[in-house]
Amino acid sequence: MVILMEKFKHKKSLGQNFLKDEKVLNDIVNAIDLQEDDLVIEIGPGQGALTKKLKEKNVNLLCYEVDFRTKDYLKKLEDEKTKIIYQDFLQSDILKDISHIKYQNLYIIANLPYYITTPIIKKIIDSKLCVKAMCLMVQKEVALRFSAKVGSKDYNSLTIYLNYYFDITKLIDVKNTCFDPVPKVDSAVVKFVAKKNNYMVKNEEFFFTFVRDAFRQKRKNLRNNLKNYDLVKIDEILKKYGLSLQKRAEEVPIEVFIDLANTL
Ligand code: SAM
Repeated sequence: MVILMEKFKHKKSLGQNFLKDEKVLNDIVNAIDLQEDDLVIEIGPGQGALTKKLKEKNVNLLCYEVDFRTKDYLKKLEDEKTKIIYQDFLQSDILKDISHIKYQNLYIIANLPYYITTPIIKKIIDSKLCVKAMCLMVQKEVALRFSAKVGSKDYNSLTIYLNYYFDITKLIDVKNTCFDPVPKVDSAVVKFVAKKNNYMVKNEEFFFTFVRDAFRQKRKNLRNNLKNYDLVKIDEILKKYGLSLQKRAEEVPIEVFIDLANTL
């Protein structure tokens, strides 16, 4: 079912493709078992289609919206459990903003502005928020990269970075006709669940630099991409897993990257 949208002059530069498909909106809010004492952060409420659905769950709700023009639609949704902050999410001090809210679990649910998908997720990770899970609408190609399995063409350093923190599953594909205005790309809803048992990495900064270097030139093998590291040691560890320096990074599972980085 399609919901009726109020008139709005959408800004392409802000990724303003609003969801008008009731089923998709329901699928997003139902992807997480929300309780009344939970806190949900929504990034980019726009005209409030998803916000209204979240309010039906009676959760604590904090929304960040950069476009002041949405105030006309969003102000009627504000109450003691729903707050809207009109600010660029990337500039926000999330820990400070949520410090006065009492809640059980923290979730992030959003139909993201696609032009800043990765910066938003990086900010969430860097903010050390203890997010239990996230349900995010992203561009379909990006969803495939986030949830890619080792050995597939979509598996890259970003896949490893995100899968280090979360178990990631693509839930549903969403046709571009579910949005107003209709974007050029298709989308997908992705669920991120915080890992219960964190990986044991000795030095995270080194680990992520090492992974990025391993993927630096997609067509090159590990021997070429990692020539500035101790190749003898790397080869020794790879052999334990039946791998070699002739392989490309896309064939190396995250656990092997961790073993490599911890040993080097
Ligand atoms: N949630 C609405 C929906 O599902 O229909 C709108 C989603 S729309 C894809 C993305 C929203 O993010 C827009 O309302 C846009 O104004 C907002 N936005 C863009 N950049 C932002 C930023 N840096 N911080 C906060 N919101 C932003």
